[in-house]
Amino acid sequence: MHNGWETVIGLEIHAQLSTESKIFCGCSTRFGDEPNSNTCPVCLGLPGALPVLNRRAVELGARAALALGLHINQRSIFARKNYFYPDLPKGYQISQYDQPFSANGQLEIMTARRDDAGHPIEWQAKKIGITRLHLEEDAGKNVHEGLPDVDRFSYIDLNRAGTPLAEIVTEPEFRSSWEAHDYVNHVRRALRWVGASEADMEKGNLRCEANVSVRRVGDENFGTKVELKNLNSVRFMQRAIEFEVERQIALIESGGRVAQETRLWDERAMETRVMRSKEEAHDYRYFPEPDLAPLVVSAEFIEEVRASMPELPEARRNRFVDQYGLSFSDASQLTSERSLADYYEQAVEVSGNARTTANWIRSELLRELEASGLVASASPLRAAELGQLLRLIDEGKISGKQGKDVLVEMFKTGKTAAAIIAEQGLVQVSDTGEIDRVIDEVLTANPGQLESYRSGKETLFGFFVGQVIKASKGKANPRIVNERLKAKLRS
Ligand SMILES: [Zn+2]
Repeated sequence: MHNGWETVIGLEIHAQLSTESKIFCGCSTRFGDEPNSNTCPVCLGLPGALPVLNRRAVELGARAALALGLHINQRSIFARKNYFYPDLPKGYQISQYDQPFSANGQLEIMTARRDDAGHPIEWQAKKIGITRLHLEEDAGKNVHEGLPDVDRFSYIDLNRAGTPLAEIVTEPEFRSSWEAHDYVNHVRRALRWVGASEADMEKGNLRCEANVSVRRVGDENFGTKVELKNLNSVRFMQRAIEFEVERQIALIESGGRVAQETRLWDERAMETRVMRSKEEAHDYRYFPEPDLAPLVVSAEFIEEVRASMPELPEARRNRFVDQYGLSFSDASQLTSERSLADYYEQAVEVSGNARTTANWIRSELLRELEASGLVASASPLRAAELGQLLRLIDEGKISGKQGKDVLVEMFKTGKTAAAIIAEQGLVQVSDTGEIDRVIDEVLTANPGQLESYRSGKETLFGFFVGQVIKASKGKANPRIVNERLKAKLRS
C-alpha cells in the first residue's frame, strides 16, 4: 500500500474492569454520579490512608487474561509510578512494573486484507505478542467544560480515581492500521464475552493508544515513534493510524524528521495534532508499593476462574462451523457478541434448521436490531419466537415473503407469529383446488398473453405466476402455483 515503506504499530489498551467498587477502597465505581461524591481518604490520597486490594478486581483481571489466552503469574507486585498531575492527588499511581500480573503472552487474531473501501477480502490468522497485562488504578478527571467560569478555572472530579484497570500492551507487531483495528475488536469482544469489562470505547471504559512509526522496507532499526491518543472508537483509531503513517512517510520523503511526540486525533478535521513533545523519556521512579503485600494467586484460584468462564468466542465459532454447517464468515458474525451467539442457538433449537436460522438472523433480525440500536439480548422478538416463525414458514403455513413482514411486526409489537398471522388472516394457500380456480380466472382475464405463450413466448410464464400470486393477495404458495400453472398450460 505504501510502496517501499513498512508500518510498525504497537498498542496499549486500558480496560476498566467491571467491579462495583474501586480497586483499593470500597467507593462505588458508578458512572455519572455527582462529582467527587464517590470518594474516601484512600482514593482522595489523604496522608495515612491505606489501600486494600479488591478481590473482585483480581478475579476480573484473571478472566481478562484467560480470555486472551495469557498465562497468569502467581506472584505479582504492585508498584508506585510517580508523577505529578492535578487529577492524581497522591502524586503517584499504583500500578505494576517489573513483576506484572501476566507477561510474554501470545494472542492469535483473525485479520483481513481489505479493499479500498475497507471491506474484508480475505481473513487470515496472525499471532500478536502481548508484552504484558497488568492491574492498576485509574486517575481522576480534569473537567474543562459544563461548569461556571471554566475559562478561568479547571475542575477536578475524583470519582474515577481508583477505578480498576487492566492495561494490555502489545509488541510492535502490527503492520497495518487494519491489523490494529482487528486486534482491538478481538480484545473488546473477549473482555465483554467473559464479563471482565464493558469495553465500550465511546463511554471511555476501553481506551486505546497507538505507537506508530515507519521504516523503509529492509531497515532493521525502528523509526521514531509517535504516540496517538484520543481514539474514541476502533474506526477512529484505524483512520488516525492511516493518517499518521502517511504523514510520517511524506515528512521523511521530503527530507524532514519525525519528532517523538504525542498527537491527538481530531475526528472533525480528520488529522492528528501535536499534544506534547516527548523528547525525554519520563522517569517515573517506580518502586514496590510499601502499603500492599505482593499479589499471590493460587493455581486453584486460577482454575476456579477458568472453570467459571463461558465457552470462548473462537471455540464457539469453530463449533458453529462443525455442528451447524455454517460458513466461517457466518459463524464469525454470529459469534461477534455472546448474546447474539446465545440467541442463535436458542432459535435453532426451536426452528430445527441451522442454516435458515443463520440467514434470517444475519439479514432480517440484525437489520431490525441495528435500526433500533439494540443488542440481541434486548430484542423484543425473542429467540424462541423467531424459531417458531421459521417453523411455520418451513411447514408452509405462510410464505417466506409473508414471514419477513411478520418478523417486522413481531419485532415492533412483541406479539407471537401465530397471533400476527391470525390477526392479519395471513394464510398461505396450498389447496390445489383453490389455486386452480385462481389460475383459471387469470388465464381467462389475459387471453392475449395466453395466445402468445402458446405460440412460443415462454418467458410469459413468470407473468402468469405473478398474476396468480397477486390475485390471491400474496397468499398462494408459489411452489404449488408453479406446478399447477405448468400443468394447466400444457393441457
Ligand atoms: Zn475511595
